[in-house]
Amino acid sequence: MKTLILGAGYAGLAVATKLKPTPDMDTLLIEQNAYHTFETRLHEAAAHNTRVTLPLAPLLKGTGVHLEQAQVENVNLDDKEVTLKDGRVLTYDTLVVGLGSVTNFYRIPGLSENATELKQLSDADEIFNFVNRAYSSDYHGNRDIVVGGAGLTGVELVTELAQRAALLTKERGLPPFQIHLVEAGPKILPVLDDALRGKAMRTLEEYGINVLVGHRLMQATADSVTVQQADGTQTVIPAGKIIWTGGIQARDIVRGQGIEKGPGGRIVVDEYLRVKGYPDVYVVGDMGLALNQEGKPVPTTAQHAGQQGRLTGKNLMRLSRGEDLEPYEPTTLGEFVSLGGLMAVGWMKLPWNQKLAMTGGLAHVMKRASEWRWRVSID
Ligand SMILES: Cc1cc2nc3c(=O)[nH]c(=O)nc-3n(C[C@H](O)[C@H](O)[C@H](O)COP(=O)(O)OP(=O)(O)OC[C@H]3O[C@@H](n4cnc5c(N)ncnc54)[C@H](O)[C@@H]3O)c2cc1C
Repeated sequence: MKTLILGAGYAGLAVATKLKPTPDMDTLLIEQNAYHTFETRLHEAAAHNTRVTLPLAPLLKGTGVHLEQAQVENVNLDDKEVTLKDGRVLTYDTLVVGLGSVTNFYRIPGLSENATELKQLSDADEIFNFVNRAYSSDYHGNRDIVVGGAGLTGVELVTELAQRAALLTKERGLPPFQIHLVEAGPKILPVLDDALRGKAMRTLEEYGINVLVGHRLMQATADSVTVQQADGTQTVIPAGKIIWTGGIQARDIVRGQGIEKGPGGRIVVDEYLRVKGYPDVYVVGDMGLALNQEGKPVPTTAQHAGQQGRLTGKNLMRLSRGEDLEPYEPTTLGEFVSLGGLMAVGWMKLPWNQKLAMTGGLAHVMKRASEWRWRVSID
């Protein structure tokens, strides 16, 4: 059985590392990078140049999976073909697609041209280099940063940047830059409850971050953004760097007559994470639209991508033994948002559907523990 796994992110890598060498299984993992990126830690790389990647080859030892470093150009489910950027066309018996998501700029004028994203290592490097440049004595441009989108990524990024700015101000004797966090919705971190959100908001204020909720980003130029409030008032905010973390959509690379797509372009999958109408094709992670026990879309998080990947890996092994597939039953074990350094807020799931809220150092430890659990699960 020839199996292709596309993408070595949280979902794809979890699939590959759950496999064991089997005589009639020939599995290829196709990934554009030679490494796995801890996407959930990109904000740390953007602020502090922290190492957030791991070479893939050693992780695949003992799995029987071969690694092909290549870029997927498109996938045709009707012809069972995967075309690579170098022109090669691969066929498969079973396909697992885990190519993640891309930034959604919502066609806001000038945004995709002028804003940096935070989706891959090169984005983090670009932000890190800007901060360094802005703190050099020969930099005379605008040093302020505007971040659009106050979800998890935006909040984690601004708090980490504020910490870095405080450090550089102390070291180099230059005044700190202003960080503006712009959010169209009425609140930051909509995934959290009011008490935890309040704590996060106070932390942002202590850092001196200018939080503008209810401000829709209307336009971006090379050196400013225009935001608009509900009453129509517009304000221009000058910026040395514009970063957009305001939305994602599924990577649009898979074609097939029978494919059904949901919000954000996510491909609808059944209870075994297979594309409806294509029983040999699994879509895992941000690209797939799986439903939870209440029939609601499973969130696009690393936590759920990892769960889906592990289950799919196990199911591929079951298939090879002629056993029945296990259905997907998502669980959200908790949610933690880092607020710079050793600070975080979040909650952990307890028995009987109770939630334990946490703030400060303990929440930080829990966030690190979940990252460590992921690291251990792929070894
Ligand atoms: C800064 C930040 C912080 C986050 N924090 C959290 C958090 O605290 N908790 C949480 O649960 N989630 C968090 N997320 C969300 C989480 O990172 C995503 O939900 C998760 O990465 C999705 O996993 P995935 O496997 O679907 O995609 P990805 O992890 O994005 O993996 C996709 C893989 O496919 C590869 N690829 C893409 N296109 C191609 C191609 N054409 N050819 C070959 N390879 C390709 C990519 O290189 C990548 O390795 C955060 C995201 C960001 C950006």
